[in-house]
Amino acid sequence: MVSHVRTVLRAGLPVLALVILLAQASPALGASVAGKKTIVVTYSLLGAIVRDLVGDQAVVIVSMPNGQDPHEWEPSAKDIETINRANLVVQNGLGLEGGMEKTLHQAKAAGVKFFTASDHIQVRRVGRGEGIPTGDPDQAVGAKDPHLWMDPTVMKTVELALAVRLKADLGIDVSDRARDLATRLDSLDQETAHTVAQVPPANRRLVTGHESMGYFAQRYGFRLVGAIIPSLTSQAQVSAAELAALKKLIQKNQVQAIFTELGTSPAVAQAIGKETGVRVVELTTHSLPEDGSYFTFVRNLGSVITGALK
Ligand SMILES: [Zn+2]
Repeated sequence: MVSHVRTVLRAGLPVLALVILLAQASPALGASVAGKKTIVVTYSLLGAIVRDLVGDQAVVIVSMPNGQDPHEWEPSAKDIETINRANLVVQNGLGLEGGMEKTLHQAKAAGVKFFTASDHIQVRRVGRGEGIPTGDPDQAVGAKDPHLWMDPTVMKTVELALAVRLKADLGIDVSDRARDLATRLDSLDQETAHTVAQVPPANRRLVTGHESMGYFAQRYGFRLVGAIIPSLTSQAQVSAAELAALKKLIQKNQVQAIFTELGTSPAVAQAIGKETGVRVVELTTHSLPEDGSYFTFVRNLGSVITGALK
């Protein structure tokens, strides 16, 4: 929608038509007139949880368009302005927002209030024997994993901590909604555990586009065998030697499926699948489904993984 508005702006519509168009395009503009506080969230999955938490008590704007790779997306001048004017910025941290880092750092230095989700959780670190050892610091044992949304109980910790901050910093009381959301996230966790219980223990081995499934694996008893891009970010380089090592790991571990995701080269994934005789399955790991629900996102994750590995 935003890019559509920009296109129209360049085309030079009369001012009144533009105002109407902008008001329709962005409920955020209308709502801020009504005196509501504005919360800017960096990416879609965290944004969905923040929306569930605050309801209509604040305006929630998500910076990255859904479907963009959060590891690489860079904000426009307009996005930067929105961040600088926010009453609160909610970010993931741990380097997830690679292309936004400078903007976020500058906004913080200018006095914008921040809530960093990863400050409030038990951060997962890369363990020994996970994936392929490379020179990449985002793959080294002990590296901090930013993909915290892969575990609904971690998201529960985040939303409960955010509720406290909303009251303290913005004077917004969402305690009832926070409790309700926590209950629903616990149910989602139980439902996911129930779904993946269909996967035999011997098949609980994950090969993914990059090392994005650590929190899911930790919560639901899967092992990370390796990734096409052997890094916690989709932005790292991969060598022929690393791909050869991955093929060996896939065969040695009798992996049932290779999960590709945003930022994975389809050609490379298909080639590995062909050479190892393993099925390639698309998995949505960094964006929301069409209904915009984090709950649907996690359910899809559980059912796609279970369908491919059971
Ligand atoms: Zn990722």
